Amino acid sequence: MPKFRRASKKPRTLAKLSAIVALAAAGFSFAVFNHRHVAESEHDRAPAPAPNADISSARGPAQAPPPSIATPPPICSHFYENVCQKRGLTRDPTGIVRPDIDGEIQALRIYEEIIHKHPEWTSEQVDEELVRSIYTPKRLERVREAYNWVKAAIERLIQRQPDRVLNPKEKKQLIEKIQAVKLDLPPPAAAYSDEPDLFTKNDVYYERTANGQTRMRVGGAYLFSAKSRFNLIFTMGHEFAHSIDPCELRAADIELKSYKALTSCFLEKKFVVRAENFAECGEGDPMSETFADWVAVQVTADALRTETVGYTSAQIQSAATNAIRDLCEQEDSTREADLTNHPEPRIRIQNLFGNQSEIRAVLGCPALPQPDLYCSFESVNSPGNHR
Ligand SMILES: [Zn+2]
Repeated sequence: MPKFRRASKKPRTLAKLSAIVALAAAGFSFAVFNHRHVAESEHDRAPAPAPNADISSARGPAQAPPPSIATPPPICSHFYENVCQKRGLTRDPTGIVRPDIDGEIQALRIYEEIIHKHPEWTSEQVDEELVRSIYTPKRLERVREAYNWVKAAIERLIQRQPDRVLNPKEKKQLIEKIQAVKLDLPPPAAAYSDEPDLFTKNDVYYERTANGQTRMRVGGAYLFSAKSRFNLIFTMGHEFAHSIDPCELRAADIELKSYKALTSCFLEKKFVVRAENFAECGEGDPMSETFADWVAVQVTADALRTETVGYTSAQIQSAATNAIRDLCEQEDSTREADLTNHPEPRIRIQNLFGNQSEIRAVLGCPALPQPDLYCSFESVNSPGNHR
């Protein structure tokens, strides 16, 4: 049985040219680029350059109104625009998120320096040094801590469902799958010997190996481009969720009643729009991606609620923005996102994230006039699906 890989949180892009242009503009050596990318296959993703203006709003003014005051922040009515019109890096009190390309250039630069310093080294030695420079104990600790936090948060999400939604046996099945996902990190470099490009990529992904083990891997460039804890939490929430997404459960012959209600709700609310010739759980079916986003949103809501105590309103908005801003199209006009298995960024950001009630509450946004604009496991006992 072959390895089974879930799509990474972000859609891969079809054009690679713009990344090469961006790297050249950044003074990057093509010899090194070619060396590392010689085996690049069509699934590799090329992030776009972005202007460098720093529009960080995290250190919000002390006089920012508390969330309870009547004027809701602009993000409430235009989530997508407010999140995606950011350029350069954005900062919240836990850290920054910058465009993917910046992190990839940083990782490639380290690679280039190592080669220049040690031209006699074998590629194994170079990779080992690269891993030592990128996956430092401090960065690994940040990732491990978030991984443990998210794992516990998803378990809480499962446990707090009433028995009529998920019975004890179903909860146990789901929690076992969550607990089985191993965090697979270098060093040593050999940990990613089947995917050496990952050291300089932004990808974070979930996969099930040929022998049925499940694991999450973290690309080296991601450690540079996303330092915000809220982004880590959303990203890991999404990848963890793939271990229990509708298609993974189907592959494991597990059928849950409440999933049917949730997935029908996704379809009905158009959170999932299947391609004309979609194959269920295959090409053109974004169901699993939407499910993974939905879980990530619930977990991120938990983090925003419990970890922003004492933040100003502007800081909370920056934290929320950083959680999801890498879902925006990052491309310039030369790139085209491959959306076959991902919902459009606007749906992910506005509908799945911006319409979630806890997220709205923590941001000081008014509750939605129609709470049933959203989907939850609780939808299972709502009469009918014809709203
Ligand atoms: Zn995914």
